[in-house]
Amino acid sequence: MDKRLVKLTDAAGLAPGELAAFRSEKGLADEQADHMVENVVGVFGLPLGIGLNFVINGSEVLVPMVIEEPSVVAGASFMAKLVRAGGGFTVNTSAPEMIGQVQVLELKDLMAASMKLHEHKAELLAEADTFDPLLKKFGGGARDLEVRIIEESPIGPFLVVHLIYDVQDAMGANAVNTACEKLAPHIEQITGGRVHLRILSNLADRRLVKASCSIPVKELAFVTAGENGPLSYTGEQVRDGIIEAWAFAAADPYRAATHNKGIMNGVDAVVIATGNDWRAIEAGAHAYAARDGRYTSLSTWGKDADGNLSGELEMPMAVGIVGGATKVHPAAKAALKLMGVKTACELGGIIASVGLAQNLAALRALATEGIQRGHMSLHARKVAIA
Ligand code: NAD
Repeated sequence: MDKRLVKLTDAAGLAPGELAAFRSEKGLADEQADHMVENVVGVFGLPLGIGLNFVINGSEVLVPMVIEEPSVVAGASFMAKLVRAGGGFTVNTSAPEMIGQVQVLELKDLMAASMKLHEHKAELLAEADTFDPLLKKFGGGARDLEVRIIEESPIGPFLVVHLIYDVQDAMGANAVNTACEKLAPHIEQITGGRVHLRILSNLADRRLVKASCSIPVKELAFVTAGENGPLSYTGEQVRDGIIEAWAFAAADPYRAATHNKGIMNGVDAVVIATGNDWRAIEAGAHAYAARDGRYTSLSTWGKDADGNLSGELEMPMAVGIVGGATKVHPAAKAALKLMGVKTACELGGIIASVGLAQNLAALRALATEGIQRGHMSLHARKVAIA
């Protein structure tokens, strides 16, 4: 590990010692852990591996991945190599806008309350924009206000105000929750109702990232050892097999759950390595996968005009490079340094690329030799240790 770290530091163009947190015990000292959560009695270690071969928007990236499951780092790295042959991953991100929800109860006339809120929209937004001067200084702040009427619920109809908040390089939960709490009295005054919940939504569907890739069909061909001699797959066979496998997930929630779990193998590993909130990312991903009323695949696979395999992953990406644990956890700070990310959007693009690569690794294995061959040889090592 020490030798690898020296090589990694060098490859990333960093000074010796800049990634030392990866080698210090557990990457997190007792005093730091004790300040992070409650009733601390220790620190729990997980392996930190490096995803290789990633080219994202034309730049080389070495990706830190924290995960307990074998074959994820290898699978993502291998697929990144195939994608590299097609020019690498392309990512696009929307503005880092989060949604805060304010629930308004005890309203006699929901429509009238909604109209009043619209009349006072500019005033409410101007007020919300003053709540976080630091965020405002960095270009963030209140962006929009939407009013929704929830027609049916176990307690009858009620009103919800959505505060759209640009959180720049933060994950944004604290910033948005604070803004919702501070805006609540004014919303009560305008509507005459009673504000109940004031909390961000993890269905961050205004903060999306899209990663795409195209793999030359010839790169997909391979030969493997079968029980009765070598088994060979043409590029076309692998490509079409991957598209058929994706179609299963696109059409069937039972398959889509497992398909998306494969995506999250890659996504979560980077989210955890950077000290981000992986429950928030998980919640957002699965809610987004069900946005049309039926749970489906987060990715799409097809072939382009030249017969190459093309893939795309779109998902919410509420991650930060400031705030939360990102600036507290020494190994998380080193992880951000290794990737050289300057904005939360950049980090989101890397995370989605790893998710897409990991999705491809699973689909390729499932569509050809099956998942167990590669998985079990690595798994056997763990069993032996246990
Ligand atoms: P935070 O409050 O620690 O940091 C964000 C703040 O940093 C901003 O409000 C701003 O004042 C400041 N800042 C400085 N430079 C900035 C820049 N360049 N861009 C943006 N802000 C900048 O963190 P947060 O991101 O608001 O909240 C994240 C934490 O909230 C995580 O620990 C998460 O686990 C937790 N959380 C999540 C949920 C949920 O997902 N439902 C709910 C509550 C809390």
